[in-house]
Amino acid sequence: MSVTDLPKVELHLHIEGAAPPAFIRGLAQEKGVNLTGVFDEQGNYAFTDFWHFLKVYEAATEVLKTPEDFGRLTRAVLEESAANGVIYTEAFLSPDFCGGGDLGAWKEYLHAIEEAARAAEAADGIILKGIVTPVRHFGPEKAKKSALCAAETAGSFITGLGMGGDEKAGKPGDFAYAFDMAREAGLRLTCHAGEWGGPESVRQALDDLRVERIGHGVRAIEDPALVERLAEDGIVLEVCPGSNVALGLYKTWQDHPVERLREAGVKVTVSTDDPPFFHTTMNHEYDRLADTFGWDEGSFAEINLTAARAAFCDEETRAALIKRLEAAND
Ligand SMILES: [Zn+2]
Repeated sequence: MSVTDLPKVELHLHIEGAAPPAFIRGLAQEKGVNLTGVFDEQGNYAFTDFWHFLKVYEAATEVLKTPEDFGRLTRAVLEESAANGVIYTEAFLSPDFCGGGDLGAWKEYLHAIEEAARAAEAADGIILKGIVTPVRHFGPEKAKKSALCAAETAGSFITGLGMGGDEKAGKPGDFAYAFDMAREAGLRLTCHAGEWGGPESVRQALDDLRVERIGHGVRAIEDPALVERLAEDGIVLEVCPGSNVALGLYKTWQDHPVERLREAGVKVTVSTDDPPFFHTTMNHEYDRLADTFGWDEGSFAEINLTAARAAFCDEETRAALIKRLEAAND
């Protein structure tokens, strides 16, 4: 048995960022949208660094205009995830891209996404939960609108709030209002930090937004006291090694701190972030982690159990997930 055959739990995936390039090209053709500059000669997403990546991401997202487009996108993304053995995934969904922050429009997009998720679950057994994502560089006012959309649709499908976007735009505390609103609505909280910002950014997300998970968080490794705090408090990191290497945060897989964080007792999980942008898949991540750090089936089983325990889902779903993971390890 290879580590890629294991059932997998993914906690950090941006729905638009997971769009297969062929899907975006097909949609652009249908709609007559010009995507010059989005793809390279091989047909892959083309960008030079993280900030250019955000621009290309937003340009590709331009073709996704209707609830139906997002429904089709959800099916395409979940098909790819299921093909990689993912049994449960949490996707970041942005009201900014789904109806421009308008609550009525957001509900229509959400309806289409949920319907696609139900169809994917019936076909492939994969479960999807949605985490509403304010985009940090769009500013605190838009984040409030996103949080309102999240609060108004919180339930069995929308289970969390998690901010993404440019970590260098503003401070976590600027977004406290949005996170407070989501917390009061019963949503679970995560935030991108410790990717382009250093350890201080992780501390601020924990102190000012009171999140229970951190998106990336890997640069905590630069501060031993913070690493200790993460381990002691059981903060779960949504680590996306292939994304970090593709964007040049670390030169090589060998340089990536995921193993050092794990050895220090930090709860790490593995996700793909925006897989086609970073030429990765869950299977590719597992292969590289096994090659680079010698992780075996037992290591991945532990990581998937950590992810299942930290998943933003109801207890019935969690129990079923853990059962499926344990059955695979017997
Ligand atoms: Zn991300």
